[in-house]
Amino acid sequence: MAGKLKNCPYCGKLYAEIGRKMCPDCLEKEREMEGDVVAYVREHPGAKVPEIVEETGAHENLIKRMIREGRFEQIGIKMSYPCEKCGAPIVTGKLCQKCQDEIKNELQATQEKAMKAKAMAATKPKAAKSSSRGQGMHTKF
Ligand SMILES: [Zn+2]
Ligand SMILES: [Zn+2]
Repeated sequence: MAGKLKNCPYCGKLYAEIGRKMCPDCLEKEREMEGDVVAYVREHPGAKVPEIVEETGAHENLIKRMIREGRFEQIGIKMSYPCEKCGAPIVTGKLCQKCQDEIKNELQATQEKAMKAKAMAATKPKAAKSSSRGQGMHTKF
């Protein structure tokens, strides 16, 4: 018995993990599904991901993975899926370059803000004890 036993993330069955991330049954199913997807795209070049999902029953993530792996380029079809933010066609990741840059900039801005706030807080003396004014009047039981 080589290989560790693992629960299949798709059906939960135990299987011997030998460089695979799912059990042989699911792997087989996925291969069939990939075949269906390729066949569908071959017949309908230019089909969009949601359409393929609907027509083949394949999971969107499977199709996206196939796009990233260049499975459609292999059959001479350029496939893309929409950026999750703006809908621009992309072939890798979740967001287009533009949205990635935007998020990076936003992140940087919030980080800078947080750093500034931290610096401000550091220079200000802690007002924890001195702000008990008005408080403590109604601490009767
Ligand atoms: Zn499985
Ligand atoms: Zn985008």
